[in-house]
Amino acid sequence: MRKVDEIRALFPILDRKVEGKDLVYFDNAATSQRPRSVLDLQQELCSRSNANIHRAVHTLSMEATEAYEKGRDAVRDFLGAESREEIILTSGTTASINLVAHCFAAAGFLKNGDKVLLSAAEHHSNIVPWQIACQATGAGLKVLEVEPDGTIDLQKFSDSLTDDVKMVAVAHVSNILGVVNPVKQMVAVAHSKGIPVLVDGAQGVTHLKVDVTDIDCDFYAFSGHKIYAPTGIGVLYGKKEWLEKLPPYMGGGDMVESVSFEKTVYADLPLKFEAGTANYVAAACLRPALEIAGELASDAAVATHEKELMAAMESALGSINGVKVAGIDAPERIPLYSFTIEGVHPLDAAMLIDKMGVALRSGHMCAEPIVRRLTGGSSMLRASLMPYNTVGEVEVFARALARVVIMLRQ
Ligand code: PLP
Repeated sequence: MRKVDEIRALFPILDRKVEGKDLVYFDNAATSQRPRSVLDLQQELCSRSNANIHRAVHTLSMEATEAYEKGRDAVRDFLGAESREEIILTSGTTASINLVAHCFAAAGFLKNGDKVLLSAAEHHSNIVPWQIACQATGAGLKVLEVEPDGTIDLQKFSDSLTDDVKMVAVAHVSNILGVVNPVKQMVAVAHSKGIPVLVDGAQGVTHLKVDVTDIDCDFYAFSGHKIYAPTGIGVLYGKKEWLEKLPPYMGGGDMVESVSFEKTVYADLPLKFEAGTANYVAAACLRPALEIAGELASDAAVATHEKELMAAMESALGSINGVKVAGIDAPERIPLYSFTIEGVHPLDAAMLIDKMGVALRSGHMCAEPIVRRLTGGSSMLRASLMPYNTVGEVEVFARALARVVIMLRQ
């Protein structure tokens, strides 16, 4: 069996049809599909071990707690974090970044006149939480432009780190450009000036081997649903020294050691940041999801397959007249292609191509500032692939897109 067929066999949804055609799912950057091992664990936990975690001594609760904490251990291994106390389970990347932005400001690390440096290609989740933190403190955003090929210039980055910059928040990979940012080098430069760095890893974990100890970032955020796990679970990695300096984000059950009306003692890390009943089923599913992700990331045959997919996509998009792909000339990128087609509205194209069984993303893709800079409008199309996609699917996509263009340009 070919490698890609083995991978596809793990994902039951890939067998379905849409509009009578074999599904070609190219919206993976929005959410990825789940393997059988994840679906089975979800089913098993819900039907056998459903109970609240951390609080009771009965069998079901202990099973649920163990499954939840195994999810945390899997994340620690996957990210190469030094300790499990540095792994906070949240509801997703958005929640993780909001946590850091809010607590960083609340702890007094952002003051009137300070700046948070972002790249021009950030997702709304890595813009709006910082805007809110700035509004609360009198601080402001500073935006680092990206180069015409979508890359970040390290010298310009270094020059932008003036004394008033107190935090750098940058995507590992932009969800529009698909370009891999040099986060390790950026962290080194920022640290040389005493500035912490948060990396939005929502699109980074899906195609790159991530080691937070090697990157040396202070915070790293990602979402389970973009890497084979269910929705409603995400991760915040934070260096222990930072997590200890930040106050809790939310108060409630599970994040406390003791409570009286006079005084509350917070729980130790990581529970200090995990108030309320957790999505323990989804958290537990991080284990099988990251197991598969880890295997795929270290398999040379998968790397070759991804290169073939990218070559096929680039030639397919290049063959259609009037197609402009963002970040296509960048030296290091993932199989994520945001594009416009002259004379064709992205929404019309996405609706029409869906009738041919092909799922693409359209719109501003929650990164309106960079979409506006690139297009002057608020809408693009995006095709994003995972290792379970095939060159055959790229060919179907290419034929479908060519037909769509002919139909919509008439
Ligand atoms: N950051 C990036 C780069 C993303 O691509 C996304 C999702 O598309 C997010 C943040 C937000 O992720 P979530 O909606 O899972 O919190």
